[in-house]
Amino acid sequence: MPDAALLSRLSDAVEAGFAAETAFLADLVRFPSTRGNEAPLQDWMARQLAQRGYAVDRFTLADVPLAAHPKASPMVEADPARSVQVVATHRAAAPTGRSLILQGHVDVVPEGPQEMWTHPPYAAVVKDGWMYGRGAHDMKSGVAAMVWAMDAIRAAGLEPAADVHLQTVTEEESTGNGALATLLRGYRADAALIPEPTGGTITRAHTGTLWFRIRVRGVPVHVAVAQSGSNAIMSAYHLIGALVAHTAELNRAAREHPWYREIENPLKFNPGIIRGGDWASSTPAWCEVDCRIGLLPGTDVAEARRGVEQAVAAAARGDNFLANNPPEVEWHGFLADGYVLEPGTEAEAVLARVHDQVFGEAMPARITTAVNDTRFYGLYFGIPGLCYGPKGEGAHAFDECTELAHLKRTTLAIAAFIAEWCGVRERASGERSGAC
Ligand SMILES: [Zn+2]
Repeated sequence: MPDAALLSRLSDAVEAGFAAETAFLADLVRFPSTRGNEAPLQDWMARQLAQRGYAVDRFTLADVPLAAHPKASPMVEADPARSVQVVATHRAAAPTGRSLILQGHVDVVPEGPQEMWTHPPYAAVVKDGWMYGRGAHDMKSGVAAMVWAMDAIRAAGLEPAADVHLQTVTEEESTGNGALATLLRGYRADAALIPEPTGGTITRAHTGTLWFRIRVRGVPVHVAVAQSGSNAIMSAYHLIGALVAHTAELNRAAREHPWYREIENPLKFNPGIIRGGDWASSTPAWCEVDCRIGLLPGTDVAEARRGVEQAVAAAARGDNFLANNPPEVEWHGFLADGYVLEPGTEAEAVLARVHDQVFGEAMPARITTAVNDTRFYGLYFGIPGLCYGPKGEGAHAFDECTELAHLKRTTLAIAAFIAEWCGVRERASGERSGAC
């Protein structure tokens, strides 16, 4: 682990930079970077990182052969050419240590009705040591931590002795194609750390996620003679009920899973968006429901898809109208595997040691029922994917917030991890001015 003198140099640098780090995070939160709207933030980020002296590669999802990769997910509603990725590289001269990817996503989920927030969602209000806003927690706090962890190393007069790629990606909340794109662009390292807001825990396992859209037809008639028509919204309800039952069945099977057996109902099904109908006094002619369902690590995505399609088809067969007018299932986003960070990697051991040193306690492991981008590294490219980061509340909810005191310690833990994993060297004195 870093010796006390090194840790104290890093700690001083994190402390000295923390007001600026907080301002940087507030700038990040002020960008309403929902899906398809991340480019202004990414352009700003590219400038920020270029000013620090990194070699910056800014590209879009259209610049890499995504479609050819079996683990790319469909992007029905987003334009790959507008989805900007940023990779900033510290290239070590004659590298001696182990290389590292630090990656964070900058896409955020929609804020919902603004009047239901205590503080406006993109105002980055700080109150009682917490910063509020959409993305303040998931995961712009982690993005600030990784950028300022590197800054702390440089401000302390040091530099990593191996290559470090700082990557900000999109699409984490919908497909994962941003993370995959950086790998297809060619970036590799000996480990990847994704500082999602895990509250100082290491993510041992995450579930996979599927997105699908169900399309149901109906027969529009005046409600006065509703019995002679067919109501597409009621048909959609019928199918949603069948998918709830299908999920319950999957959760019964999950009781056998080596990592998820302790977790009650780890697989979540969510009808997230519903649209349909044209008039309150006509039986609706159409209905669409956008859904999300989880799958366990080790379950094949194709098998999970078949399970959904079969549940929908069976429910349709049991309904007079749907049997003759079968619903459609469209796969319009996530086709994501679950992932287990198997215990015993050297990268995790190093992170556990520095966490202990910075927080004064052992690093707990968590099992999550949501997906994150580590799967691309761990499952398909043989790079251990560590998911570990700051503490906050309200992911995807109102009054999302991050705790600034915890963010500061996380920044130090990540700086110490970089120092320990990559090794550090003194920077030549002339280079010091380049540190921000
Ligand atoms: Zn996230």
